[in-house]
Amino acid sequence: MADRYGITGQSYVGENLKRGSDRIFHSFNSASASNTPWEFFEANTDLVDEACALAKEAFKSFQSTTFNARAAFLRAIADEMEGLGDDLLQVFCLESSLTMARARVERARTLHQLRSFAGWIETGNHCEAIIETSQGGMRPDIRKMMVPTGPIVVFGASNFPLAYSTAGGDTASAMAAGCPVIVKSHPMHAATGELVASSIIRAARATGMPNGVFSNLTASSYEVGEALVLHDAIAGVGFTGSLRGGRALYDLAARRPRPIPVFAEMGSTNPVVFFDGALKDEAIRSEWVVKMTESTSAGVGQFCTNPGLIIAVHSEALTAFVQALSERLNGVQAGDMLHPDIYHKFNQGATDFVYQPGVVELTSGVKTNGFAASSRILEVSGSDFQNNPNLHHEVFGPLSLVVRCADVEQLEAVVASLGGQLTGSLIGVENDFISHSRTIELLKSRVGRLIFNGVPTGVEVNAAMQHGGPYPATTDQRYTAVGVMSIKRWLRPIAFQNCPDDLLPEVLRNENPKGVMRLVNGEFSSRHIE
Ligand code: NAP
Repeated sequence: MADRYGITGQSYVGENLKRGSDRIFHSFNSASASNTPWEFFEANTDLVDEACALAKEAFKSFQSTTFNARAAFLRAIADEMEGLGDDLLQVFCLESSLTMARARVERARTLHQLRSFAGWIETGNHCEAIIETSQGGMRPDIRKMMVPTGPIVVFGASNFPLAYSTAGGDTASAMAAGCPVIVKSHPMHAATGELVASSIIRAARATGMPNGVFSNLTASSYEVGEALVLHDAIAGVGFTGSLRGGRALYDLAARRPRPIPVFAEMGSTNPVVFFDGALKDEAIRSEWVVKMTESTSAGVGQFCTNPGLIIAVHSEALTAFVQALSERLNGVQAGDMLHPDIYHKFNQGATDFVYQPGVVELTSGVKTNGFAASSRILEVSGSDFQNNPNLHHEVFGPLSLVVRCADVEQLEAVVASLGGQLTGSLIGVENDFISHSRTIELLKSRVGRLIFNGVPTGVEVNAAMQHGGPYPATTDQRYTAVGVMSIKRWLRPIAFQNCPDDLLPEVLRNENPKGVMRLVNGEFSSRHIE
């Protein structure tokens, strides 16, 4: 039975609510150290089969819905979510222990994502239409465009219950592309997930979308997620979460008889390189103490863009900077983490770092209540860091490791030793950027987003954003998970050779009534073809 928020604890298999099994799990409120009031029924492989069969059937018609119809669907989801009002925000806060202010910002971002995909597909430009005409019969007429790949499975991360979850960027982009979506709901925000899923189902009904265009399977075991990835009806996977989880699902998909792509957005240490010019200037240094404190501790450090590494050449100015940063971070109140598992992994990860050779802790450490974590700054020399792979991975939470390099050569070697990252930041004055061109090139080769004089946290949602990076930041560095260009993950090219005009998809015909931008015989044009 639904409670006052409308939560039943069941899965949506298409538009029908189903239990799956009688096995029950709970989400958790870290602030009160107790279960949330809801019981969730664990989905099972029968529900996986049903949801996949429905999605396969829905794909037949959904893939050829008009761009305007799909845009109306996406806007209706945003409107329905907005219509949930404060109920959605209260449930979000209960399950995540994040603040109401954060809930509002994340909802606004999620609605913006849905509406920007609606606007983007209405232009038709996502089809990337390319036309080479026969030039009076001298060669074949070839016309190429992007089309949807098929039903997509989405796994969301616990740290973004809205923006990277049920109706988050992966779901919005896949549906915008014309692909049905099955979400494996995150067990730690299963109620938030069910409320958002109900919005999607209502929007699908209201805009005449086929049953099965969306399902939301509520599960806390790996069994359901693995069965979804292995199901023959599934054409691709969107994952946001840990490196361990993303890699496991990537390997699983590769072992299928018919392998499918897994676009996994995983962890990152987001190195921030400080140059001498910035550190030596007292005013600039003080400004960066404040900025780095905020970036490290915001959201209790639970962002994939959290600055986990600070890299600089040894100097008195660096010592002053690190000391001031540690003191300021010591003054930041400990914050409740998302759930006990994240809290325990953070403490374990920080402890593992502290016990590595040459690592010293500069902040006062670990004493907190319940599941609250305080921010931590550790330090290690460039040589100890370079030679120790145990220090190169993400510790998810408010922790930054300062890597103090002996000289510029060592700084370059440290940057060269880094794995792929979502972001890399460079803090300096103009001269620093001129004299450190090699460091800049090295960092550029390792990141998806190179930031000059800015912190890595705070991801703008727009068409130019690159939220991705070389492995292990993601499994496919060619794509972004944020912004309208993330739709490319769910599209594949198809070329039509000598196809009669009236059999072509609308965006490839000679007439171009919507003025879609197309590359015609090597020139961009939104005009008709004579
Ligand atoms: P997580 O533990 O990896 O969980 C993500 C989802 O994947 C959950 O639904 C989880 O199911 C499932 N899963 C994990 N391992 C699996 C496996 N082996 N088989 C099947 N399913 C599996 O991640 P999280 O703790 O929720 O999120 C925190 C992490 O996400 C951090 O590392 C953070 O950096 C990363 N993140 C990355 C981005 C980005 O854009 N790059 C954005 C946000 C967060 P269960 O919960 O049932 O285990």
